[in-house]
Amino acid sequence: MLHIGIITLFPEMFNILQQGVSGKALEKKLVQLERFYLRDYTQDARKTVDDRPYGGGPGMVMMVQPLRDAIHAAKKKLGEDTLTVYLSPQGKPVYQQQMVSFVESKKPLLLIAGRYEGIDERLIEQDIDQEWSMGDIVLSGGEIPAMAIIDAMIRLVPGALGDETSAKQDTFEDGLLEYPHYTRPRTLESLDVPEVLLRGNHRDIIRWRLKHALGRTWLKRPDLLDKLTLTSEQIILLQEFIEEL
Ligand code: SAM
Repeated sequence: MLHIGIITLFPEMFNILQQGVSGKALEKKLVQLERFYLRDYTQDARKTVDDRPYGGGPGMVMMVQPLRDAIHAAKKKLGEDTLTVYLSPQGKPVYQQQMVSFVESKKPLLLIAGRYEGIDERLIEQDIDQEWSMGDIVLSGGEIPAMAIIDAMIRLVPGALGDETSAKQDTFEDGLLEYPHYTRPRTLESLDVPEVLLRGNHRDIIRWRLKHALGRTWLKRPDLLDKLTLTSEQIILLQEFIEEL
């Protein structure tokens, strides 16, 4: 079972995960999601969660005491071996293989969704194991990246997807983008479904799909190909794709 905690000022945002694949996994208890509402850890009547930055400047910083108490309470509940992650545009961008490895590790995960200008640097030093980013964009809070990460992890939990092989074929799983998909009708305007997919020869279909996975990775994300050592069969298929193009 995947055990994930999330510290947030907006716990209701995570209701979105009750839909679709993640919703079914939550229902089946393949994943346990615990929301820690930051205001529950405040000590004043106004439930203050922000504070002024030393040195001045625009914006507020997340107040240290409630966040620190929330982190400690969450870690106590999730367990000693919890990986504590602060969602931040300054973190390392997340990637699929990292999601796979984390789900396989079966460790509990604590995600901290920042708001305002972010969190006190000393909390990052003391209480945070890693900083993860959704990419080089700045969002107004860590909730959306947290939901994206939770969703990506949930679909990797055995039993979460209808067809277990489906996640294995996804883009990034083998370092390549996934091959193109087609469904009915056979002809759309003047565009036909590739003949090989209609003939039913399984070996030919596998070969065609690998060739096109290689080809579209070459076209759309050559940086991914640079990270791979292609087999001689893959080199031939990619060459074929380039020549046909
Ligand atoms: N002042 C911060 C900076 O320049 O690095 C940005 C703060 S941002 C407005 C507020 C919160 O949104 C952050 O604390 C973080 O939790 C979240 N956030 C924003 N962009 C993100 C990204 N690309 N990946 C992950 N979290 C992000």
